Amino acid sequence: MEGMDLSIAAKRNHEEIKELQKKSGVNITDCYQCGKCSAGCPVAFAMDKTPRQIIRLLQLGMLEEALKSRTIWLCATCQTCSTRCPRDVDLATLMETTRQLAKKKGIIAERNIDVFNDIFLFNLKMFGKSPEVLLSALYNLRSGKLFQDVDSVPHLFLSGKAHVIPGRIKNRKAMRRIFEKCLEGRE
Ligand code: SF4
Ligand code: SF4
Repeated sequence: MEGMDLSIAAKRNHEEIKELQKKSGVNITDCYQCGKCSAGCPVAFAMDKTPRQIIRLLQLGMLEEALKSRTIWLCATCQTCSTRCPRDVDLATLMETTRQLAKKKGIIAERNIDVFNDIFLFNLKMFGKSPEVLLSALYNLRSGKLFQDVDSVPHLFLSGKAHVIPGRIKNRKAMRRIFEKCLEGRE
């Protein structure tokens, strides 16, 4: 395999990767590639690149490869990697920020996860929580999987876990303010 000049590689996509670090609060050069994050990640078995490899791609200026990866969409933001990292690299937040950048650029490796995220956040904004039936119905409609999990609907109603009219939290204004606050500073 041909060698790579790391000093040149690190300059690729410099501005965008710098912005990514600023937004996530992560200094990617802090990572010394020990792999502890990947070893503890509960979703690593399904990823096309390990969490350690994602940060390595960014260190090497290979932004597009990181953005095209399914890994950033499969990350469950469970924080295991951030908690275990001996260098205090908050990889969970870096994953989230990288996913946001991918979405902004229209690079969506896992469309159904993106659809699910959008519906979940829409429900939170509207109701202060995400009612299961509404979430499932909207997801099935938008993903085209019309009959997915329909057999569990009667049980959800009978057990009182689902309601025809979605409940709302009392202080929805507070929820809207949280959303506004989160969106502040985002282009
Ligand atoms: S655990 Fe931390 S230092 Fe080790 S590879 Fe993962 S991000 Fe890098
Ligand atoms: S936050 Fe994401 S990358 Fe980190 S351990 Fe959890 S699922 Fe894996």
